Order: sequence, then C-alpha cells, then structure tokens
Amino acid sequence: MLLRMALRQTTSRLTAVTAAVALAVAPMSPALAEPEKGPPIIRDTEAEQLLREYTRPILRAAGLEKQNIQVVILNEKVFNAFVADGRRIFVNYGALMQSDTPNQIIGVLAHETGHLAGGHLSKLREQLAQAQTQMIIAMLLGAGAMVAGARSGSSNGLANAGAAAIAGPQEMIRRTLISYVRQQEENADRAGVKFLTATGQSAKGMYETFKRFTNDSLFAARDADPYLQSHPMPAERVAALEELARSSPYWDKKDDPALQLRHDMVRAKVSAFMERPDTVYRRYPPSNDSLPARYARAIATYLHGDLRSALAQIDGLIQVQPGNPYFYELRGQALLEGGKPAEAIAPLRKALQLSNNAPLIEMLLGQALVATDNKAYTEEAIAILRSAVARESEAPIGYTQLAMAYGRKGDFAQADLASAQAAFLRGDNKTARELASRAKTRFAIGTPGWVKADDIVSAKPLPGQKSN
Ligand SMILES: [Zn+2]
Repeated sequence: MLLRMALRQTTSRLTAVTAAVALAVAPMSPALAEPEKGPPIIRDTEAEQLLREYTRPILRAAGLEKQNIQVVILNEKVFNAFVADGRRIFVNYGALMQSDTPNQIIGVLAHETGHLAGGHLSKLREQLAQAQTQMIIAMLLGAGAMVAGARSGSSNGLANAGAAAIAGPQEMIRRTLISYVRQQEENADRAGVKFLTATGQSAKGMYETFKRFTNDSLFAARDADPYLQSHPMPAERVAALEELARSSPYWDKKDDPALQLRHDMVRAKVSAFMERPDTVYRRYPPSNDSLPARYARAIATYLHGDLRSALAQIDGLIQVQPGNPYFYELRGQALLEGGKPAEAIAPLRKALQLSNNAPLIEMLLGQALVATDNKAYTEEAIAILRSAVARESEAPIGYTQLAMAYGRKGDFAQADLASAQAAFLRGDNKTARELASRAKTRFAIGTPGWVKADDIVSAKPLPGQKSN
C-alpha cells in the first residue's frame, strides 16, 4: 500500500527553515519565496522499512539512536533531502529514484544525520536571528542617513547613500550566511563520512551523488534545483569529500546484492505508483524480466489495467519470493480496490503475519474487513484497527475505517470520536471540533472517550493552521 497524506505537524516551521536557507543561498528564487502548502508525504511500509534499515546504524554511530528520528518520504519527484525539525529526515521520492545504489542514498542520509548531530538547524536559526537584527540596525542607520540627507536640503547625494546603506548590508549579511551554510555543509560531509566509516560502509555513494550535483550545475538551471539551493556544491567541497572518502578502508566496499535488490524493488514500486504508466513501461519494458521490473508492471497493471492480469502477475512474484509480505499486501490491495474485499482478507492476513503486524497493513486489513459489509467481521475489524492506530497515530485512514466499523456496530459515540480523530489528522480542525463536540454528548461525562473528545474540542490549532 502506498498512501499519499498531508503532513500534519511542523509544516510551517519546515517552510520557515527551508525558506531561510534558500534566502541565504539563493535570494532570487521565486519558487521558495512563495508560501508553500504542507508538502504531502508518502506512506509505505516496504519503503519505510528499508529507509529505517539504512538509517538505523548511522543514527547509532551518531549517538542519536534514542531520539526516535524518523525518515519521511515527501511526494516530490526532484532530488532533495533535508532536516527541518531535529527529529525527522525528509527525503523526496525523487532522491530514492535517482539513487542507483543503496550506498548512494545512505550517503545522503549520513550527510543529513551530520546536520542533526551537529545541531546545525538551531545554530542556523541563531545566525538568522543575528542577521535579522543586523539587518534591522543597518536599515535604521540607512533610514537615518536618508532623513539626514533630506533634511540637509542638499541634492540627492546623501539620500542615495542612505539607500545604498540599506542594500549593502543585506548583501553582506547574505554572504555571511552563505559562508556559514557552506561551513555547515562541509561539517555535515565530514560527520557523514565518519558515521559511514564507523559502520563499515563506503562514502563513495555520497561522493558520487554530490559530484553529480556539481556536474549537473554546469548546465542545469541553478535556481530550479532545491537540493543545490540548500546544498551549495562548490568543486572544492566535493574534492575535499573525495579525499576524505577515499581514505576510508571501505571505499571499494560494494552493496550487498540482497540489499540492492530490495532497493530496486522499492524504486520500482515508487515508479509504478507515482509515475505515468508510459514512463513506468519505458523504465521497465516487458523485455526486462527482473523481479523489480515485474513488480513495477504488476502494480501498473493493477492501477491502470485489469485486475485479473494484475493478480496473475502478482502470483508470479509470490512464487519467486513466497516470504515477501509486500506481494501479499499488493494482492490484497488490488482485490480490495477491485471490489473484492472478502477475497482481499486472506492475502492481507498473510501480509500482516509476514510483516510482523505492520500497522499500515493492519489498516488495510481492517479496511477490507469493514468493506465486506459482513457484521461477523465487525469486532475483529475494531480490534485490528485499534491496534493499528495505537502504533501508527498519523495516518487518518485508520480512524476513518474505525469510525465505519463502530458505525456498523451502532456505537455512534465511538464512531463520532474516530471520525473527529481522522479529521484532526487531516488538519480539518473545524470538522474535528464539530464531530468531537457531538461525540461528547454521546459519552458519559469523564469516561475515556469523553476525555479524548474533549481534548480535540479544546485542542489549539498548530502554528500555521487556520484557527476556524
Ligand atoms: Zn547539507
């Protein structure tokens, strides 16, 4: 299952910091000057599991394993990766697609971990606050000079000097920030190489990726590339990185073929779900009978072709890897979305068991149980969905399905509460409050359901969200 969702939390902060970095590096960028909407995120158990495995040893080497840092995949096809709030690493799906090897994206993750470990974000905020103060002082001085020029009654000479005093410090401050950001980038490179070496991995992929950006920047429009905006890539930096990376005993170490296959499977899946079918078939033509190509075509067939053919292709995949939970998940999803929820239940149970009860797969099974319209499944659906939302609290679909299951049971208090929770997670605070208020009238005062509903009614909107 690959879900596209709104990013509920810290969106406004994220925008503020990326915009701040862009200000420092590329002040003329119109794209980033506009207020951004919350970037939608992509949720998928298989991709998230792989990224967790890529990141875990690096976080451990950086001493950050206890911080519960998540990797979040953003629904953007350009290459980008960044940290924005000290507890999440954001990776565009485009960065995954453009990383030919696990080692390449692991290198980028190691570099971003270097930013986290160095506390670069809070330091950058301090620098920006200082810069803003300097800017205000400079502007006040400039304005003072202009007033003085006007008052002296002389020609425009002094007034122009005032205007120059306003423009000049801005440019100076911008340069200061650029050199500050470059310093942070070099520090993150060094830290990243250190983490990779400590975990017995090569920094070659990190070097290859960053080298590609210096090459690309020769002909690519600089302003169009978000990664270059936040990651100035002067040749000296890449040269320093190469020297450092080559000094590691693991420089020539290759990715494990099994990991490379999983990497290619995730890229095939992302391509199949996110790209147009003609693009998918160009990347993975029928002449390519590798497992990733067959996976991509099976997904594209279920999404754009017919269910029967898709199921035959998925069964072929299961024959090759009978222990792969994501093939059963796909089979279940294809059946569910093909209007056969009862048939989706068995493969989804299998997927759940093989994936050690992954909550997003639990939600899909819960959805299939609810969709059968068979009341015999209602209690099981409620139990499964409650287990899922307890461990995966940011996916509204779990609460949406839970609301339906409670509705079927005739428990309208719990149904309203679950609907309110789903609306809250979608960022629709108005609906969330209305539903939670209604739920409160259905629960006895002070019961756990009443308390949860009351929490939603009295929840403050997050910064950047409309308070209606
Ligand atoms: Zn960086």
